[in-house]
Amino acid sequence: MTESGTTAPPPPGGGGPTERFPQDQPPTGADAMIVCDRLVRIYAGDGIEVQALQGLDLLLAEGELAALIGAAGSGKSTLMNILAGLDTPTAGTVWVADHNLGAMTAKERLAYRRTTAGFIWQQTSRNLLPYLTARQNVLLPMRFLPLRRRDRLHRASVLLQTLGIAHCADRTPDRMSGGEQQRAAIATALANQPKVLLADEPTGELDSSTAQDVFSALQTANTQLGVTVLVVTHDPAVSSQVRRTIAIRDGRTSSETIRQAATDEHGRTELHAREYATLDRAGRIQLPREMTTRLRMRHRVQLQEEPDHIGVWADQAADQERDHRTPNS
Ligand code: ADP
Ligand code: MG
Repeated sequence: MTESGTTAPPPPGGGGPTERFPQDQPPTGADAMIVCDRLVRIYAGDGIEVQALQGLDLLLAEGELAALIGAAGSGKSTLMNILAGLDTPTAGTVWVADHNLGAMTAKERLAYRRTTAGFIWQQTSRNLLPYLTARQNVLLPMRFLPLRRRDRLHRASVLLQTLGIAHCADRTPDRMSGGEQQRAAIATALANQPKVLLADEPTGELDSSTAQDVFSALQTANTQLGVTVLVVTHDPAVSSQVRRTIAIRDGRTSSETIRQAATDEHGRTELHAREYATLDRAGRIQLPREMTTRLRMRHRVQLQEEPDHIGVWADQAADQERDHRTPNS
């Protein structure tokens, strides 16, 4: 859907270097479900400015399930709120399912939240209406669908069944466990068949076995219903089960871990994790501080192109100069 493109206001920040592709189409291939390009979010208040996102790049393909990890305050919730259409970026571009989120009208934004992006909060109490049963909560977002009541009821039952909480259909949240409530929240978020499901620490208030049930429900949504899922988590048990974990540091994606199943010589399948540095569209990477410190890499490094890799060396000329100036150190 590209109808927002024609009425797009100038991008926040007045265009400039972030405006590198036309407003009416996402910048990458057709399979990209989420595209963030140099996303910036600055919170201003009381004379203090917080740069929660500082030029964040992110690409998620359709059908992916990825975990987002990072220290408190690194910008995870800020990113999730923008992707959910609850907040807008200060600068940069963000596309989700062919919607340009920086250029939507209030009406388009509402429609986007209703039909394209499902969202799950960490606080179980925030996701469901307390005086409605699980079934009624799931039915609620469907009231705008051109569906007969019988079909809505059927869809609600299928969702509750698929997520393993059919037994909670007629219970209000106070008669459900935290994990059941979160699974009902996932069912509610899926009611209108969204393209993406965004969950901000959905297991943060749960013990580990309950967290596993909730995470399994997200996996089910991904594999059985084909929804693209991005989940923020602190739980290593959760992040170790996803193929792709994206780390965010100081408002930017810094590294990724990709896990792949490999078969060893005895025919056993093992999950191998490999860590990657993020390469942005301008060709920048962030070298891990442990490596740069140990190798005394500071202001500049030397690169050498090899047939199958690029070598990175400390600036030897600077090192020699320094050693020359301070011969006793
Ligand atoms: P995370 O979810 O990774 O813990 P957040 O995205 O919530 O991080 O916050 C990123 C930074 O932005 C933090 O420094 C936080 O204090 C600040 N921040 C978040 N929301 C607001 C807000 N509404 N007003 C001002 N600063 C905020
Ligand atoms: Mg947060």
